Amino acid sequence: MSTVKNISFSYQEFESLAELVTEDQELIAAAKEAANHAYAPYSKFMVGAAVRLESGIIVRGSNVENAAFPSGICAERTAISGSVSNYPDDKPVAIAIAAMTNNELTAECISPCGNCRQVLAEEEMRTGKRIRIILSGREKIRIIESVSLLLPLQFCRNNLRVNLP
Ligand SMILES: [Zn+2]
Repeated sequence: MSTVKNISFSYQEFESLAELVTEDQELIAAAKEAANHAYAPYSKFMVGAAVRLESGIIVRGSNVENAAFPSGICAERTAISGSVSNYPDDKPVAIAIAAMTNNELTAECISPCGNCRQVLAEEEMRTGKRIRIILSGREKIRIIESVSLLLPLQFCRNNLRVNLP
């Protein structure tokens, strides 16, 4: 007999930066700064991400596009690759994401794509620490308490049945 299951999650929504704690405001500022460094000559969609590590260090990343389209990489994965590469033992606790078009922050907040959700979820699993997602738009800010909420029923390393550290 079949059963119907349900998955849902809650998140916070804010109307202005002033409603956030200083640390989160700071992380959003770093994400906006990173968006300015994006290399997005094709889409003109400039995305910045900033990862806060447990120690307080902030690692920035931006999208880097390429004429060979699949070679491009999103801001979120650039940032997380930077944190893993440079601070492998320092655990990410939050990531802020901001996007700009025409030199202006997008009105709506943007969410990480499927690829980035997958990578962020694995990082959360690797470190055993939740990564808060802070999505920042001009008119709205959303905070989601864990990446895995954005990727229910995820494919993960346990599915491979290999022994990993
Ligand atoms: Zn992505």
